[in-house]
Amino acid sequence: MSANSVSLAYLVAAVLFILTLKGLSSPTTARRGNMFGMIGMAIAVLTTLSVTHNWQYILIAIAVGGGIGALVARRIEMTAMPELVAAMHSLVGLAAVLVAMAAFNNPVAYGIALPGELLHGSNRIELFIGTFVGAITFTGSIFAFGKLSGKLSGRPLRFVGQHWLNLALGIAMLAFGIAFFLEPSWTPFLIMTAIALLLGVLLIMPIGGADMPVVVSMLNSYSGWAAAGIGFTLNNNMLIIAGSLVGSSGAILSYIMCKAMNRAFFNVILGGFGGEAAVASEDDGVQKTHRSGSADDAAFLMGNADSVIIVPGYGLAVARAQHAINEMSKALTEKGVKVRYAIHPVAGRMPGHMNVLLAEAEVPYEQVVEMDEINNEFADTDVVLVIGANDVVNPAAKNDKSSPIYGMPILDVYKARTVLVVKRSMATGYAGLDNDLFYMDKTMMVFGDAKKVVEDVIKALA
Ligand code: NDP
Repeated sequence: MSANSVSLAYLVAAVLFILTLKGLSSPTTARRGNMFGMIGMAIAVLTTLSVTHNWQYILIAIAVGGGIGALVARRIEMTAMPELVAAMHSLVGLAAVLVAMAAFNNPVAYGIALPGELLHGSNRIELFIGTFVGAITFTGSIFAFGKLSGKLSGRPLRFVGQHWLNLALGIAMLAFGIAFFLEPSWTPFLIMTAIALLLGVLLIMPIGGADMPVVVSMLNSYSGWAAAGIGFTLNNNMLIIAGSLVGSSGAILSYIMCKAMNRAFFNVILGGFGGEAAVASEDDGVQKTHRSGSADDAAFLMGNADSVIIVPGYGLAVARAQHAINEMSKALTEKGVKVRYAIHPVAGRMPGHMNVLLAEAEVPYEQVVEMDEINNEFADTDVVLVIGANDVVNPAAKNDKSSPIYGMPILDVYKARTVLVVKRSMATGYAGLDNDLFYMDKTMMVFGDAKKVVEDVIKALA
């Protein structure tokens, strides 16, 4: 392919990637968005292959990597998605480091230096940035994967002088980067990479489990910037554009998540929330009582209501109850009940978690309403069914200044006339906090696995 055709093909792919992001912003256009992304990626890969020597090796790598990816994607549970994403990001980080090393090892082959010439100053800076961002992403993502999958403790790990150590390491890394810039050789390059690998672990260690999804989204952003950095080194516009899109969308997503959890971004990065929350919940010394009922009771209350709002949460995903809940909604709608779903932006374990589950079960989009739109309707609603949700309906976020989640926007379920809560026990949610909603007079707990309870409700409705 001529240089012009390559640029044109990359431009088309870049436009398709932008259309992908636009499409993914709404459930109705998400499939189309994904399709644009796949076409864009196919164009990008084929164009790159057409200008690559030894493309056979790349095809073998694509076959092996693609095969493993397809297998993992088939097997993965929806609830394990955040840890899978973390694992994937670690590979992007590693790739950035390896490409930088290969480019430094043989800059002539990469077309960034003429034979006998030293690396250009700007290339040294790009290699430095791509490598350290990639290395931090690599080890940070592995650590995040460990925490999210439960293989490492979710508690924040802190020690005295941690921030100072990080600062000292950051300065040392920069110093070796400058040494590399002044005199490009392996010693400063490798020391700088080793410090960045260590920093990746040290930066993620103090962050609590509850903040991990924000961290994953932040690492997603880093991996995009690392790819963009390498794109500059390789003079590959496609990589620069795709990397920047990933980098900026990851950064925006982290911001949205922090906002939805009422967390300051820098507090998340400096760590601590998960651990504090768990401690705060351990004992508040007050004996509280709750009311419980059966699936039949729940069916009776919902079947006789004019309006029902369903609030899905993480437990719905664990129980894989999305299809059952759609069946239940249909049965209620047939009885003339107005049914809607209220979606909190951080319900579940990743942004859009509930939208994805409900879309999978083919719940009509018009029934699915975002928090800001539905919040002032709870007061006029007969019955709210909270299913596997906890933190996102915890009134402490509104009325308890000492609560670690104080200030987080919640779904105003406590305003409804009757509240039904389906979960297996009185256990806390992800933030480790007790929930006063469960002890209100208007609340009836229905204990059991979400799917089983919903199936029983469907039977009772019939
Ligand atoms: P929570 O984690 O607060 O609560 C989930 C509830 O589901 C638990 O209390 C659990 O109670 C119940 N549950 C678990 N399994 C089942 C089952 N099989 N059947 C029925 N119930 C079950 O979930 P929410 O969705 O309300 O809140 C999400 C939390 O995650 C928030 O704290 C949010 O800040 C955090 N988070 C979310 C992010 C996101 O992007 N979505 C990002 C960062 C953090 P029991 O064990 O008694 O059954």
